[in-house]
Amino acid sequence: MTAALIGQIAWVAMVVGWYVIRYPFERRAKRRRVERSRRGHAETIRMLISFSGLGIIPGLFVATGFPKFATYGPSPLQTGLGLALMVLALVLFRLTHKALGKMWSVSLDIREKHELVTRGIYGKIRHPMYTAFWTMALAQALLLPNVVAGLAGLVGFGTLYFSRIGPEEAMMEETFGEAYRDYRRRSARLIPGIY
Ligand code: SAH
Repeated sequence: MTAALIGQIAWVAMVVGWYVIRYPFERRAKRRRVERSRRGHAETIRMLISFSGLGIIPGLFVATGFPKFATYGPSPLQTGLGLALMVLALVLFRLTHKALGKMWSVSLDIREKHELVTRGIYGKIRHPMYTAFWTMALAQALLLPNVVAGLAGLVGFGTLYFSRIGPEEAMMEETFGEAYRDYRRRSARLIPGIY
C-alpha cells in the first residue's frame, strides 16, 4: 500500500470516528431545549463553508480523484504525521464532548439551564473543540495527497473559526457576565499559554 492510499483510508476513518464520537452526545444534547440562539444567515453560511472544506471537497476527492491536477505523491513521513494528528484530534474531540455534555450544540445556542463549563479540558482552554477541529483540518492536509482537497479543511474551518469566535464569546459574556469575563482572563483560546 502506498502512503497516498493509507492517507485516504485514514481520512475516511477520521470522519467515521468523528461521527461515532459525536452521535451519542448529539442525541443527549438535543433533549435539552434551546432557550436562545445566535443562529442567523452568517452562521448558516460559515457552517456550509466549513462543511464543504472538511467534508464535501475532500469526500469528492477520495471518491473520484477530483481535482486531478492537484494530486501528488506524499512522503511516508507526511502521512505518518497526519496519522498522529488524526489520533490526537479524535482524542481531544471526545474529551471536549465529555466535558461539555448537554451544553454542546453544533451552532451558537444557549440551552435551558445552561451552565458555564470550566472544568476538565475547559479549565485551561476556552475553545478546545475548535482546537480539535484545527488539528483535524491539519491532519486532513497531511493525509490527503491533493493540495486542493487537503487544504480545503484549513480554509473552510478557518473561515468558520475566525468569523464565529467573536459572536460566540459575546454570546457567552452576555449570558454569564462576570463569570465569563473571569474565565476568559484565566484561560487561553486554543492552546494553553500560547493563544
Ligand atoms: N467553542 C467551544 C464549544 C463549541 S460548541 C469549544 O471549542 O470547545 C458551541 C456551543 O458550546 C455554543 O452553543 C455554546 O453555548 C457552548 N459553549 C461554548 N463554551 C462553553 C462553556 N465553556 N460552557 C458551556 N457551554 C459552552
